[in-house]
Order: sequence, then C-alpha cells, then structure tokens
Amino acid sequence: MRSRFGLTSFARLLMLVFAFLLLAGCGGQPQVNSSKGQTTQAVQEQLANQAPSQTGSPEQSVRPGLRVIEALVTSVSDGDTVHVNLDGRDERVRMIGVNCPEVSHPDLGIKEQPYGREAKEYTAKQLLGKKVWLEFDVQQRDRYGRLLAYVWLEPPSSGSEEEVRAKMFNARLLLDGYAQVMTIQPNVKYADQFVKFQREARERGKGLWGLAPAAPPTGKETKYIGNARSKVFHRPDCEWAQKISPRNRVEFRNKEEALEAGYRPCKVCNP
Ligand SMILES: [Zn+2]
Repeated sequence: MRSRFGLTSFARLLMLVFAFLLLAGCGGQPQVNSSKGQTTQAVQEQLANQAPSQTGSPEQSVRPGLRVIEALVTSVSDGDTVHVNLDGRDERVRMIGVNCPEVSHPDLGIKEQPYGREAKEYTAKQLLGKKVWLEFDVQQRDRYGRLLAYVWLEPPSSGSEEEVRAKMFNARLLLDGYAQVMTIQPNVKYADQFVKFQREARERGKGLWGLAPAAPPTGKETKYIGNARSKVFHRPDCEWAQKISPRNRVEFRNKEEALEAGYRPCKVCNP
C-alpha cells in the first residue's frame, strides 16, 4: 500500500509534467486557424511552413483569423480569376464573393458580356506581375481545384472596413463597378461589406452600373429585408422579416438588388 507521502509526491510530479506541457504548448508552432477545417493539404503545409517570426516571411500574422500568404500574379484569366505563383507552384485563384462579367471563351461556349473585357483589363492593370497577399475563408478550393481567396494588394493590418475598401482587390472590383456580389456559403466573411460596396457603386453609377439606364424613380420607395445568415429576403411586413436579428438584417431597395446579392425570395411572403 502506498504511503500518503508517496501519493503526494506522485501528484506533484504529475503537476510538474502538466505545467511543462502547458509551457511547451504556448511556445510551440503557430497553429493553423481551426476554423479552416477544410484546408487542403498543400495550403496547410504552406501555412505551417511559414512561421511569422522568420525574417522576410511572406506570411503576415496580424490577428487571429487574419492570415495571408504572399503570391505573385502571373496571368489574368478574367476580372475575377487569376493565376499566381505560390511558393513555386502555379495556382488558379478565384476571388471570393464577387462575379465579373464574362470575357469570351469560345471553347466553353461562353459569350462576352458587357463590361467583361473592361473588368479583365482592370484586373490586369491592377494585379498582373504584382505581389499580392491571399486570405482564405472556410472553404479553400472549389470543385475545379481553384483556390478561393480574398486578394489583398497590401498586407492587411487590422482588417477594418476602411482597410478592406483601400487594400482588398475583391472590394475594389465591387466599389469600382467591375463586379457584382456573388455570395457562396460558407465563404461569407466579408459578404455584408461586399453588399454595401456594391450598393455604393450602383448608386454612383460606377462601371457596369452606368451601362443600363437607371431604374425610373418610383413614387414610394419599396424596400426588402434580407437575412445575411440564411440569404433569404422578405417583404418588410413579413413575420419572418421581423424576426431577423439586427446583426443579420440587410436592406435592399429593390428585388434585383437582393437577387444580385445572392439572396433567395422568401416562400412565405413571396417578394
Ligand atoms: Zn418572408
């Protein structure tokens, strides 16, 4: 039978081991953000191999959840899709949350859409041959194997809306009227801001919004209420619209705006 003294020593030993493990854990390698559960192997390695402490490291660890990887833009496919050199590999990058008008792809049977060429030229002018910083969301690749990313023109520091406007190319496309919002779950980190940027561009008649004549003013302004979480929009008097928490509540001036932002009409109030 163990003496009381023996038990206490054993307990002390356990505590020491435990304390050691805790300390070791704190000083260990930076963890890949756990929210990136679907991180592909390659990108995970990329993230893991780039400790922020390395001098001149391409990764800028700014705050938890805002990690970027440096890449070089080598070609531009269209307004929202580019090729980059990422650590020696060629990667096709589709920008998250935005959709530019198509340029013509005769092989795919895709016809040129109005403003498609302008959008591609804009992207080429801003990005071709430039260093960019890629930020990923929850899902890092689409079914075509493309990386899905927010493309920063400069490394972000705070990730504030002001910074998004100034430095994130996805946002620039919307603000300058070269793209429309296209929200696809689960990559929705900046979806609310993107809708706001699109609204601003539209109101100012920027880029593609200047092409079509503005909608005739209606006597009384209708509005629709969207739920940023479910991506469903309602008439303002719908009972479901009234249950949306202020955090998820988005307003649209008309149905087109809601549809363009990727919202579905409610099946109850049928807006
Ligand atoms: Zn409804």
